[in-house]
Amino acid sequence: MKNTQRKAALSSQESRETMRIELIAPSIYNGKKIGKGFLYPPMSLLTIAALTPPQHSVSITDENIAEIDFDKDVDLVGISAMTASAPRAYEVAKRFRERGVKVVLGGIHPSLMPEEASQFADAVAIGEAEGIWGHILYDAGNGGLDRFYKSDTYPPASTIPAPRYDLLPRNSYWIKNMVQTTRGCPFNCNFCSVTRFFGGKFRTRPVKDVIEQVRSLKSKFVGFVDDNIIGNIKYANELLTALVKERIYWAGQSSVNVVRNLSLLKLLRKSGCKGLFIGFESVSDKSLREAGKSHNKAREYKEAIKILHDHGIAVEGAFIFGFDSDDKSVFDQTVDFCFASGIDLVQFSLLTPFPGTRLFEKLDRENRILTYNWSKYNMSNVLFQPRQMSPEELYEGWSEAYKQFYGGLPILKRLLTTLGKRTFLATLPLLVLNLTYRKRVYAKDGGYRGLHEDKITAPILSPYV
Ligand code: SF4
Repeated sequence: MKNTQRKAALSSQESRETMRIELIAPSIYNGKKIGKGFLYPPMSLLTIAALTPPQHSVSITDENIAEIDFDKDVDLVGISAMTASAPRAYEVAKRFRERGVKVVLGGIHPSLMPEEASQFADAVAIGEAEGIWGHILYDAGNGGLDRFYKSDTYPPASTIPAPRYDLLPRNSYWIKNMVQTTRGCPFNCNFCSVTRFFGGKFRTRPVKDVIEQVRSLKSKFVGFVDDNIIGNIKYANELLTALVKERIYWAGQSSVNVVRNLSLLKLLRKSGCKGLFIGFESVSDKSLREAGKSHNKAREYKEAIKILHDHGIAVEGAFIFGFDSDDKSVFDQTVDFCFASGIDLVQFSLLTPFPGTRLFEKLDRENRILTYNWSKYNMSNVLFQPRQMSPEELYEGWSEAYKQFYGGLPILKRLLTTLGKRTFLATLPLLVLNLTYRKRVYAKDGGYRGLHEDKITAPILSPYV
């Protein structure tokens, strides 16, 4: 369909075809349901549903909590895939296409690997949906889908609609009420695809839209899904000031430099911030430099955690193992740091070369990638030949570090220390989260993220499919 013809039709509202649209988030665990866990709702699909004009009927299936109905009477299926769920997304697409249903694939993996995804779909949506979903619907309704849809620019954040939470059973999720305030990140760390997908500039949603959405959720607790809620300090000040009046509690993600701004810290506390997820990534400055994240300074971490605790904010830290600068001492160093700093929760990941990142390009060039089976790309498998240890040593070191941090005695000690500074009610969520992590880390079947499963992945020799 020619763009000019399509645009004219869209603007004159000629496109009145009614379609039944099914949006699907494929399972990230080989087609299996995860059940309630650390999960939050698939925000991208809730947003796409909100962008869908009212003449169409739209439904959502999140395969992580519900079965897909492959016989459902639908005209169009939209599937959003991450790298780990891409193989399952392709299977799901195949099943619907066999029945003659048109399938559009989108999300971070198809956007970064569009040629691969297009082998399994009628169309691939590249990038954010706001600028292209209307075009896709128009073309699907008029029988002429293009192979690829890509917006020329990043859509302004003011066009992000409030997600259609009414289309999913919110109570099936651990964090039921997620809100997005910004998109984009200027840092472009070498292992991360956020900058490539969302661009290198922070785009901010109008504060009044965010507050409206927070109010509509009618909940005392909200999770902010942004990669860095204080990425744009001026905007963060405006947003947090507005949040103070809402009298909610919230948790979100932030960069560690938040502690360098005392007035912002006070505002965080006043606005109800109870927990921050922070990408520390490594306790080694050398590894941080290698990751392109040298704005983080490992020597400042301990003090940063203390400052956040002093402001009543719990800290969950993300650490990655497997950088070329990491040798076998990295595991003990990291666990020792975590115990000494009093950090509340950790997420330990195995370095994962997601397609579309500079890390992937480097390891691929160096012929070090052990498998291109995307379903293993869940941050819990060794996927490439490490530089200073064997794949087995990397896997065992990571697994052991997790078990040490979430051992029974360390959890007890952590919580008793927290109880000394906070109320029982403020400590309770940390107890639940520590125990949930412990259950996963020690689970015999490896928990949903694949711990203890497929320790070292078998090579697959046909790249990119
Ligand atoms: S890891 Fe965080 S700081 Fe680095 S590019 Fe990704 S979102 Fe930005």
